[in-house]
Amino acid sequence: MKAVAVIPKKEKSVHLVEMNKPGINEFKNGRGVLIEVLRVGACGTDREINNGEYGIAPEGFEFLVLGHENFGRVVEIGENVREIKKGDYVVATVRRPFGNSIYDKIGQQDFTTDADYWERGISRLHGFMAEFYAESADFLVKIPEKIAEIAVLLEPLSIIEKGLKQAEDIQKRLDIWQPKTAAVLGTGNVGLLTAMALRMRGFEVHGFGRQKREGYLNADLCEAIGATYDSTDEISVIDSVKKYGEYDLVFECTGFSPIIFEAMQSLNENGILILSSVTGGERKTDAVPSDKINQMLVLGNRVTVGTVNANREHFEMGVKDLALCEAMYPGWLSRMMTHKIEGLENYLKVFDILENSSRYNAIKVYFEVNKI
Ligand code: BGC
Repeated sequence: MKAVAVIPKKEKSVHLVEMNKPGINEFKNGRGVLIEVLRVGACGTDREINNGEYGIAPEGFEFLVLGHENFGRVVEIGENVREIKKGDYVVATVRRPFGNSIYDKIGQQDFTTDADYWERGISRLHGFMAEFYAESADFLVKIPEKIAEIAVLLEPLSIIEKGLKQAEDIQKRLDIWQPKTAAVLGTGNVGLLTAMALRMRGFEVHGFGRQKREGYLNADLCEAIGATYDSTDEISVIDSVKKYGEYDLVFECTGFSPIIFEAMQSLNENGILILSSVTGGERKTDAVPSDKINQMLVLGNRVTVGTVNANREHFEMGVKDLALCEAMYPGWLSRMMTHKIEGLENYLKVFDILENSSRYNAIKVYFEVNKI
């Protein structure tokens, strides 16, 4: 079968490989499932891996098959799989509990304390940019047919769901927390999914991006679900507080680390800032009013928390939000899926769009590997 791979740490090494089709007998306990890949999304992580910034090949391989944003159809199941049947649509989670930490052992590998981790398409495990993959049923989440069209958005959404779940868990420290307003920094595909997830929870949502409002599809999409959009060229996040008030929750998804200090200063008392950008670069900033920020965090019991990866429960939360969004705003999620590329052999096109997403006005670029 065909797959799209890189030589990890080698810049622009993306290429097509020919591999053996995997089989369910790789899973000795009868829990194996063979999945025909239908769609695979591509994101900044894939771009950075192809730029040689990170990525680790599985043991015994020189290459790593890319792809972690997945959606597929079950074609074969092992004798001990009862929760999924042939023909079902599924999305696989990304990280596997192969580390030594206590969190790996209790199935919370998304909270691993190990430096090494196993993630399909990213680190030590082949990903989903392939015609088929095999996986244990333990890591597959069933997708209702009604949301099949947009289910490739579930994996990026799962990261946000984990962030929101963490916020909810942390805020249990307060006997009453009734958040009303949220700022979402960044309105790319992750920011838009965040705005959506917050709107599904009834928040008043304010989105911020660098691009001008006029003619910007992402801003249209914010407004279409009842959120606002402001360009940070016109108003900084800190200044936006004068317009909208301090935020109960701020979710950062820009990839631009200096903005987190502004975000900390835009929180309400007891408010929470959730950080989700994996900033692999060397950027530094000295524009940090440290006394002020420290005092705000201390005197206002404010929180800042990072969120990475996601567990099955976060994927399941995501399925519900996708379904609710389809019910409330039919077609909105499809409008995010701007660039469909048919066939794995057209991988260069996918990476060109990833590298030049603003020129293409791309929100989500994805492969259609097989028809739904
Ligand atoms: C993926 C996560 C992963 C993270 C770090 C993200 O793009 O969605 O599942 O944990 O990259 O590797």
